[in-house]
Amino acid sequence: MTITVPALVTPSAGAAFERTTIERRELGEHDVLLDIAYAGICHSDIHQAREEWGASIFPMVPGHEIAGVVSAVGAGVTKHSVGDRVGVGCFVDSCRECRSCLAGEEQFCERGNVATYNSRYADGSPTYGGYSTQIVVDESYVLAIPDGISLDVAAPLLCAGITTYSPLRHWGAGPGTKVAVVGMGGLGHLAVKIAHALGAEVTVLSHTLSKKDDGLRFGADHYETGDRDTLRRLRGSFDLIINTVSADLPVDAYLRTLALDGTMVFVGAPENKQQFAVFSLIGARRSIAGSNIGGIRETQEMLDFCAQHGIGAEIETITADDVDKAYDRVVGSDVRYRFVIDTATIPA
Ligand SMILES: [Zn+2]
Ligand SMILES: [Zn+2]
Repeated sequence: MTITVPALVTPSAGAAFERTTIERRELGEHDVLLDIAYAGICHSDIHQAREEWGASIFPMVPGHEIAGVVSAVGAGVTKHSVGDRVGVGCFVDSCRECRSCLAGEEQFCERGNVATYNSRYADGSPTYGGYSTQIVVDESYVLAIPDGISLDVAAPLLCAGITTYSPLRHWGAGPGTKVAVVGMGGLGHLAVKIAHALGAEVTVLSHTLSKKDDGLRFGADHYETGDRDTLRRLRGSFDLIINTVSADLPVDAYLRTLALDGTMVFVGAPENKQQFAVFSLIGARRSIAGSNIGGIRETQEMLDFCAQHGIGAEIETITADDVDKAYDRVVGSDVRYRFVIDTATIPA
């Protein structure tokens, strides 16, 4: 017996959201049924709902920043119990056999993981995400949300949090390192909080100083604009740049702000090809790199770290009626810093 669940659905590319119901699969032996409390709105939800990244699967229920409480478990579930506070991020299954999966880097599954929405399960049926009141997910892809983070501010950690935590850890942000965060949006504000908590000296490079007070409050040591003069002044400064913006950047000017062996990591996804001169790398053994979310083990590590350091997302909670408007505001960078849908408002 499938489970009928209220959801917010967009029927076609760019169409307004509608309240309806969807079917979730019957609880299997290793499945967890999760009552969703909050679902964050990620910019990638908008790209996919508006079909800006190639063909999408419609009708679509976006949402891969999911926080809630376990309400039922299959007979074989050992990792989670009824009543546990849990989260689900960007994928709900993977092949479990490839080198990436065996290394706990399921985000890079060589056969392609099963994304939380706009994807298909092994049997071909479409996946539906977090803009709904319940979801069924295999226990191995469900994260524990520690006490000490409330569910609303935890939800955005499942995508925005791990997207910034993973490269900060991979490239060794910590005491004695200097990290620049480019952009102060949904990703950037969490990058600042996490990099600061890791012990790094943090500089925000934003296109204006309008969020400077926030940035300093989140733990930034310096807050600058990314104009040419500033970038010239900052030459040779940073060990790591986390670039969270998807706009075109003067990549050479940013690369030259890196110190010896520094790395510039892209976590945003610019539409256009970005250009740089090889001289900007070889002059100081610099690297240019990319990173995408994180594996299950590291996502759990991130949640535990955030709980320990009192880190949650800065959020604006909205109802199901506000999602279309919220999408326009995200595109206009008019949110501080993440919209979170209260899923109790979804049932018609
Ligand atoms: Zn996302
Ligand atoms: Zn795999």
